[in-house]
Amino acid sequence: MRVYADNAATTAMSQTAIDAMLPYFQTVYGNPSSLHSVGQEAKEALDAARATVAKCLGCEPREIIFTSGGSEADNQAILSAARYGARKNKKHIISTAFEHHAVLHTLQKLEREGFEVTYLDVKQGHTVSARQVAEAIRPDTCLVTVMYANNEIGSVLPIAQIGAICKEAGVPFHTDAVQAVGHLHINVKEQNIDMLSLSGHKFHGPKGVGALYVRRGFPLVNVIEGGAQERGKRAGTENMAGICGMAAALEESCRNMDKNMAHVAALRDKLINGLSQIPHSALNGDPHNRLPGNVSFCFEGIEGESLLLLLDAHGICASSGSACTSGSLDPSHVLLAIGRIHDVAHGSLRLSLSEYNTDEEIDHILKVVPEVVAYLRGISPVWRDLQTGKRQYIL
Ligand SMILES: *Cc1c(COP(=O)(O)O)cnc(C)c1O
Repeated sequence: MRVYADNAATTAMSQTAIDAMLPYFQTVYGNPSSLHSVGQEAKEALDAARATVAKCLGCEPREIIFTSGGSEADNQAILSAARYGARKNKKHIISTAFEHHAVLHTLQKLEREGFEVTYLDVKQGHTVSARQVAEAIRPDTCLVTVMYANNEIGSVLPIAQIGAICKEAGVPFHTDAVQAVGHLHINVKEQNIDMLSLSGHKFHGPKGVGALYVRRGFPLVNVIEGGAQERGKRAGTENMAGICGMAAALEESCRNMDKNMAHVAALRDKLINGLSQIPHSALNGDPHNRLPGNVSFCFEGIEGESLLLLLDAHGICASSGSACTSGSLDPSHVLLAIGRIHDVAHGSLRLSLSEYNTDEEIDHILKVVPEVVAYLRGISPVWRDLQTGKRQYIL
């Protein structure tokens, strides 16, 4: 049995999305900027895809800019707000300590340019409260960028409340919603979101394509310069197959959201209940406001990397921390941000589910993980020290 439980890293494409892409390789291969009929067919498809994405977010089609993915959308949103702020001498940004690197590294770049960033603490409840945001806002704040849901630990943040606070204070609000779009109900107008990033491959669409929602009138700056595509805000001939595949995947995800969410959340809860029985373990992330597919644990006395390799040998594809940090020996910045100390953060496991997972797969995981954890503890010098009292348990 092979169980794919790494859907926060990427998802398998849906058949609907694959079918939606094929025409743009074969018959509708035109450039939507061309005036002839082949080009105009592509233009019509591009407009339709934009309308589909807009409908899923509750905005107007003209407020959607297609990008190469979530990372580019995050970069463009943050840099735009920073440039606009700098023009008015506002150079303070509010974010959180557990953002994705696409946000964190963009903020670090701005700090080197003289911006000041407040990284809100996420230790309390493994989330951020709207009150923390309110208290951090200053007269020179030019942006609040707070993720919708965390990719490693699954916490879903109080976005509507944060949106209301930002609106009242007149501060632009961006959210990296890459983990939420297609999985949670979003309405950018009701939630007072000014900019939102999404990515196709996190909801069974293709990789290398995403979108940025930008409230009408907000002054975007270009990250990619060139032609006048995307109302002049993002140059480059449109990735037609990618855009149309993403729109089809999003439409399908939004249409089936309630059914999928209920199925995935039931699998998640079964996994969380089962894995909580492992002694000296702890659930990471907000236990109540949580992505339907996220299960994240720390197990004391083991190495996450060894755990992953053994799970893979048993057919289980999982992750420890984020895919971007694996390969390095540093523990995940997210686990450190929620207050897990280095030793504990090293023993982490993330299982991220999708509607393609089954009950039988969960049973397989629940059989294998406790066995593998017990095996690794049996050969771990750290675990021996914990058992003999030479070292104190933390979890
Ligand atoms: C995957 C992910 C991204 C990056 O999206 P890409 O399309 O892979 O560039 C950004 N933010 C979060 C929260 C993610 O999970």
